[in-house]
Amino acid sequence: MIVRARLIVTMNGPPIENGAVAIEGNRIDDSPPGSLPSRAAHLRRAAPAGVVVDVGLFNEVKARNSGEVVDLGEQALLPGLINAHCHLDYTCLRGKIPPPKSFADWIRAINAEKAKLSRQDYLVSINEGFAEAKSFGTTTIANLTAFPELVAKIHELIRTWWFAELIDVREPNRARDIVDLSVKSMKSKETWGLAPHASFTASTDLYRRCEEVARAKNILLTTHLAESREEMSMFREASGPLYEFMKGIGRPMDDCGHETPLASFVGRSALPERWIVAHLNELAESDFDLLARSAEKFHVVHSPRSHGYFAHSRFPFERLRALGFNICLGTDSLASNDDLSLFAEMRAFQRSEPAVSPSKIFEMVTVNPAHALRQGNALGKIRPGFCADFVSIPCGRSTNVFGDIIAFDRPVNWMMLDGKIR
Ligand SMILES: [Zn+2]
Repeated sequence: MIVRARLIVTMNGPPIENGAVAIEGNRIDDSPPGSLPSRAAHLRRAAPAGVVVDVGLFNEVKARNSGEVVDLGEQALLPGLINAHCHLDYTCLRGKIPPPKSFADWIRAINAEKAKLSRQDYLVSINEGFAEAKSFGTTTIANLTAFPELVAKIHELIRTWWFAELIDVREPNRARDIVDLSVKSMKSKETWGLAPHASFTASTDLYRRCEEVARAKNILLTTHLAESREEMSMFREASGPLYEFMKGIGRPMDDCGHETPLASFVGRSALPERWIVAHLNELAESDFDLLARSAEKFHVVHSPRSHGYFAHSRFPFERLRALGFNICLGTDSLASNDDLSLFAEMRAFQRSEPAVSPSKIFEMVTVNPAHALRQGNALGKIRPGFCADFVSIPCGRSTNVFGDIIAFDRPVNWMMLDGKIR
């Protein structure tokens, strides 16, 4: 199949005017590059019936929905978007929790909402989340789920890295069992990983066991870290609302009053390059020194709209980027966000970081998360040999291609996923 569009935004060089992409199966054709006429001849040989290619004149190829050539007309073809941090479990909590005064209050509020939900509600919530993410042009998602036992029942609509979100704060000394049980559940999926929830809810043993499994099974890890001011005061000063709340539910607090959340994470992590770390809003100067010294770097996810909802401290984007961190965008869950649009997430990021170029922002939902998922040779670009995951959006005649992409504020009207039009 050939997909032609007025503009191909490859993320592997400048956008191509009047371009076409040849697809073989579920991949972008990687036969030796040649001129359009030779490519057309190759496709003719590969599929002698029904291939309509006016040699050398792709821009005049007519639209065919079911044929071998799809002309998208005045559209820009983009790599499918990648959401680096989401919890589809909570799609049904959109609008249920007003922005809280305190992070500990928010945990109380979401726990109260979760207590009203059945397993069936969560299944519906996850499926609705997939449909919404897809409608906004997301073709790949890193999705944390607190219900690993449900994943076998879900047929995901888009490419998914499932992360089992694990908490042992109410089950001391069961870290190993909790991790190993979740591994059994996740095995029904090809792409999965583990997500100890956060340093305040998951024990050192649980983090350690997750790293053991990651090493043995070659999987990825993700966690929440240094998200709120209350997390910083809990660990560094042994005080504050989160400290009191966690102490109140029986968490051992002997790891508090010493170091920052980041310092304790870095101190115990043996596999930094496998970690995709969400948040990093609260970092002390000593944390930046620590990050500057670390040779192996984890990946970072920022969720601009969820960040705004909680009124966290400013995300230190420039400092982290200057230190060489790979920074991605995610939506987080709809318990703290309005929708699952990464276009809206890029706009929110642009409002807080207007000096960052639109093309660099677009990398944060394509190239960067592909790298974080260890898919830098398969996802996030339109390039020979890569997965055929694309979306298309209307394309004007402006010269600000990436600015127009970020400004796009509707559901996408065309998507190809794994070589199939969806
Ligand atoms: Zn999260």
